[in-house]
Amino acid sequence: MLPILLLAVLLGSCKPGSSEEEEKAERPEYMLVIHGGAGTIQRSEMTPIMDQAYRAALNSALDAGETILKEGGSALDAVEAAIRVLEDDSLFNAGRGAVFNHDGVHELDAAIMDGTDLSAGAAAGTRHAKNPISLARAVMERSEHVLLTGQGADDFALLIGLDTVPQSYFSTERRRRNLEKAQAVEKDSSLSMLTPGTLALRYGTVGAVALDKKGNLAAGTSTGGMTNKRWNRVGDAPLIGSGTYADNRSCAVSCTGHGEYFIRFTVAHDVAARVRYLGERPSQAAAHILDKELGPKGGTGGLIALDAQGNFTMPFNTEGMYRGYTKPGKRVVAIYADE
Ligand code: ASP
Repeated sequence: MLPILLLAVLLGSCKPGSSEEEEKAERPEYMLVIHGGAGTIQRSEMTPIMDQAYRAALNSALDAGETILKEGGSALDAVEAAIRVLEDDSLFNAGRGAVFNHDGVHELDAAIMDGTDLSAGAAAGTRHAKNPISLARAVMERSEHVLLTGQGADDFALLIGLDTVPQSYFSTERRRRNLEKAQAVEKDSSLSMLTPGTLALRYGTVGAVALDKKGNLAAGTSTGGMTNKRWNRVGDAPLIGSGTYADNRSCAVSCTGHGEYFIRFTVAHDVAARVRYLGERPSQAAAHILDKELGPKGGTGGLIALDAQGNFTMPFNTEGMYRGYTKPGKRVVAIYADE
């Protein structure tokens, strides 16, 4: 373990604590790892009340998924249940609380993948599905497609009787202020809309990866995307292999961060491919991609990854990432880089 940690420090690798469990993992009976987005999350800018609210929300999501896993339920069910809790919580940029696009509209993206047979489903730019992760699952299980977009995704949600809501359901004052800020920055500068100021307003995507008692893996991701996005921009979250991937033969991965980079580097699949073809652990594969590929090119964000032996990692190259995991006898939630 020591040489690996030393190497990680020398390489300026993952933040301290982000993968501390990885090296001593024994195969747990089940495991669930979640994230609530990576970004400029600093202790100094967080009030104790907000800090507690985020930790409580992460714990509720872990509870929802763990109840299923403990009873022998599937990794897929656990991933969906955990993400639904985070989507329903307005703290996160997914479901209720999703960011506004340039026109003051919410367009939500989500994907889910089953590691047992590589089946997958996704929705991009849905405006009315209350829980986009459940829409993604329905695309996987109840259509012959993998990815539905825009109006078509909403039509499908209605047709099969999923809960749909008016746009106002997703709206919060906090996100409206974020949009105003982003548009003020945009107006004020000749720079592109991806200035650091607007980048900071993007974060809060949610994701989960799970290992069930049968040894199966699943992954899911859900997001409102980027504040002030336009032209029906789609991020990495609903793109299988970019923001979301699961394969029992390698690992389950959910990403968060600057989607354009995660798309170009096909991050989720690349982590899984390194695990499968190079025999790396999820922590090694993820550190390589964040430190050697994405980071040097300016890509910011993080990810969670879990293999069928219970080896997992939660690295990020931003100030913080809302994250947590649970397995028999152990529960952790964390926000900042130093915990
Ligand atoms: N990856 C998401 C996107 O680009 C945003 C995020 O994770 O913060 O849409």
